[in-house]
Amino acid sequence: MKSLWFSAHAMLGVLAVVFAPSLQGLAVFVFFSAITICAGHSVGMHRLLIHRSFDTSPWLERMLVWLGVLVGMAGPLGMIRAHDMRDWHQRQRICPPHPSHGAGFWKDFWWQVHCVFLLESPPLFVVEDRIADDPFYQWLERWWMLQQLPLVLCLWLVGGIDLVFWGVSLRIAVSLFGHWMVGHFAHRKGHQAWVIDGLPVQGYNLPGLGLLTFGENWHGNHHAFPHSARLGLHPGQSDPGWWFIQGLAAVGLARNVAGPESKAAREGLRRLE
Ligand SMILES: [Zn+2]
Ligand SMILES: [Zn+2]
Repeated sequence: MKSLWFSAHAMLGVLAVVFAPSLQGLAVFVFFSAITICAGHSVGMHRLLIHRSFDTSPWLERMLVWLGVLVGMAGPLGMIRAHDMRDWHQRQRICPPHPSHGAGFWKDFWWQVHCVFLLESPPLFVVEDRIADDPFYQWLERWWMLQQLPLVLCLWLVGGIDLVFWGVSLRIAVSLFGHWMVGHFAHRKGHQAWVIDGLPVQGYNLPGLGLLTFGENWHGNHHAFPHSARLGLHPGQSDPGWWFIQGLAAVGLARNVAGPESKAAREGLRRLE
């Protein structure tokens, strides 16, 4: 299903670029990619729902998570499980090549985007009740693919089917491919300011991609301080997701925003530079 979902959108997205190139299409693609990835995926799903790095009102949390679902990756519970599963694997003494992105470029791509991995004795993850019992999140989880429909309808009315392929299919395909690529490279090599002794998999920063990934490229920092709402910690590490959270805090919509110092350091954390 996941494989078919990605392949279909990738195909339609490529068709749009080749047979219906337009500036309007490009603008719609860039605009909705930026909103869904920054406010939705990076801030709503990752920094808020998964890591609880700040507090906000329930309606805003739901809105940001909905935008995150619109990226087209999974529902909220699916995202939490995928993240926790990778995290758990990377904390074990030996981490298999799938969750550590240890395979080569295309093999890892094939594994991550087209395969489902089943463990013989998976660890038990309990998603906190507040999220697991929330009717809205349960509904999103069940119908996450259908969340594209309102956008499909709007784009169709404005610019016909071509615009739908630009703003929905191409965006989903590029987002999924980009997400996988950042995950792949951020666990292999790059800039490293900290190391966590005793773990087989380390996170790395990918300099130069701050604006493009909305700060998710500072993955070495994220491994060092997973509770921190801020990912770009050093001067020059642009982090649009963090700017967005600062904006929310400035108008009173984000509270208790956590930084690297907000919690005790991880066991084995060692500064390299
Ligand atoms: Zn990681
Ligand atoms: Zn994380």
